[in-house]
Amino acid sequence: MKMSITERQPFLTKHFAKLIRENKLVHAYLLSGAEGTGKIELAKWIAKGIFCLNSQNGVPCLKCSECNRIENNNHPDVVTIMPDGLSIKVEQIRYLKSEFNKSGVESDRKVFIIQDAQKMSIGAANSLLKFLEEPSGNITAFLLTSEPQKLLPTIISRCQEVEMQQLTSGQLEQELISEGISEKNSHILANLAQSVVEAKKINDNENFNKILATVNNWYRKLLRKDLLSFVMIQSKIIGLIQNKEDQNLVLQVIILTVRDTVLERFGLTEEIVFKENIDFIQQNTAQIANSKLVNGLNLVVESNRKLASNISMQNMLETLTLNLFDCYFK
Ligand SMILES: [Zn+2]
Repeated sequence: MKMSITERQPFLTKHFAKLIRENKLVHAYLLSGAEGTGKIELAKWIAKGIFCLNSQNGVPCLKCSECNRIENNNHPDVVTIMPDGLSIKVEQIRYLKSEFNKSGVESDRKVFIIQDAQKMSIGAANSLLKFLEEPSGNITAFLLTSEPQKLLPTIISRCQEVEMQQLTSGQLEQELISEGISEKNSHILANLAQSVVEAKKINDNENFNKILATVNNWYRKLLRKDLLSFVMIQSKIIGLIQNKEDQNLVLQVIILTVRDTVLERFGLTEEIVFKENIDFIQQNTAQIANSKLVNGLNLVVESNRKLASNISMQNMLETLTLNLFDCYFK
């Protein structure tokens, strides 16, 4: 089951229910937050709270005809605009204004929602600005964006900014499972990504599963003091890397893999990412002191920084392998 917006944004849904109840909604809100944090769901939920026939203290019933019409983008007083191609064009904002000037709409209470507001053309933004400056009737506007820095400051200054809460990794994991990704991969992806969109992108990487298996194999060899782990960098791992994103992914997977040994040592088994490794870790790290395990993790995190200074990936990973050997076994 997909998480509801009240589960995903408990604080903000409570906050807005209170504003609806006390009739304190302001004229325009800017909802900003990463993809997958539920911006459109929140905007619609608030609109439902405003129009719902059975709302309880500002909380919509989600069942009545008004709630259903809003859910299905079929409510005459709730208008949503989204980019037409790459941008939101001035004609779209004009359409929005004309919709609200039409006679025969059901009440003077109106909501409009602009998705990807950062994609407004300059013309569209200026047209909207006039609209925001001269509010006619009882209108609440929601501008939605994942990149607030790309909006005109004049637009931002007309809105009250609301930051969406990030998903916790547990919430993200549940979302990914509900999207049909295996439980095992959802758990790993929730540790690699901040949002559903980012996680899906990683999952769609054709080498993702190979990267997981190969890094795991590399680290198991390393813990068994097998120098083939050094050879594997060139023979198995480098071939899986096609671009900067892959580089980053390999490094993040290495960090999680090595971090698991530290988590295991300090009894934080709940947080271990690759649960199937627990027995192996216990058997093969028993001789390694706590401080050495922690230093090993530091070496990996440090490598991440070195990569930014133009060392080749192969060079960096080979050096890391040798350094981990020294750190663990000398
Ligand atoms: Zn309702």
